[in-house]
Amino acid sequence: MVNSDYQQVLNEITAEVQPLLSQGKVADYIPALAEVKANQFSMAIHTTDGETFCAGDCSERFTIQSVSKVMTLTLALQRYGDELWQRVGKEPSGTAFNSLTQLEFEKGLPRNPFINAGAIVTCDALYNRLSAPMHSMLETFRLLSGNPAIVIDKKVANSEYDFRHRNAAMAHLMKSFDNFDNEVDDVLWAYFNFCAIELNCVELAKAYNFLANKGVDNTTGKVVLTNRQSKQLNSLLFTSGLYDAAGDFGYRVGMPGKSGVSGTILAVLPNKFTVAVWSPGLNSFGNSVAGIAALELLSEKLDISIF
Ligand code: GLN
Repeated sequence: MVNSDYQQVLNEITAEVQPLLSQGKVADYIPALAEVKANQFSMAIHTTDGETFCAGDCSERFTIQSVSKVMTLTLALQRYGDELWQRVGKEPSGTAFNSLTQLEFEKGLPRNPFINAGAIVTCDALYNRLSAPMHSMLETFRLLSGNPAIVIDKKVANSEYDFRHRNAAMAHLMKSFDNFDNEVDDVLWAYFNFCAIELNCVELAKAYNFLANKGVDNTTGKVVLTNRQSKQLNSLLFTSGLYDAAGDFGYRVGMPGKSGVSGTILAVLPNKFTVAVWSPGLNSFGNSVAGIAALELLSEKLDISIF
């Protein structure tokens, strides 16, 4: 498959997923997300040689939600290396992204950095090393996406904060097990702001291109992670990026991926491209119905898989 065919394939997929856009349910745990129109879709590929392809509502921005957890982990790995794994595990959870029960059983050590508890404890670790975590995160996305005008959707961040009880419960539980250093509400505010960063699919695919490119951002040449760390992060995405649906996603799509409740999914084909998809209707696991179908179609049509 030559790169010029990617546009054709994205156009085909966009047409094929249209019947799915009315399926799935928009996240409604906060009013700011419940207002989003369900029948939207976009999909973008950014190749390691710097080409971009997009189909659908390409300029439409959405909050990246849990896809921000990948950058949180990236910034934490840059600062802690393997020491981070004393605070959070590397195993798939088999439970929902916001589950509290496993955290109690496992004495405040979250299974992995992509469930909420794991991302929040990783934010806590970052908070120890960054004087202005929200500014650092935003600047990272601005640099890597190539758009210096990217902003945080404060309405979403505030709404998440107002309805923070379950995430706050996780953080307090970790604090009770001595696995939390900073003030819970300070760390949660940073976490919600990371989740509320607004990008479109093109910007999202570009921002994470280093994961397909041995840890190096192909536009700026910046070494974001070492080659080994980038491989390790992709492995964790494969086993845990879609929570308790990671097995099904791996089976259907064959690439590492990370989903967010706004209906976005990022996937990585190492040494070739990153692909971002967005469609707000979710299945019962909190993953985009049309987004998963679109990635499965991409995998079939291009005959790609990491295996
Ligand atoms: N902001 C969401 C939360 O903390 C992120 C969860 C997600 O995207 N799965 O609940």
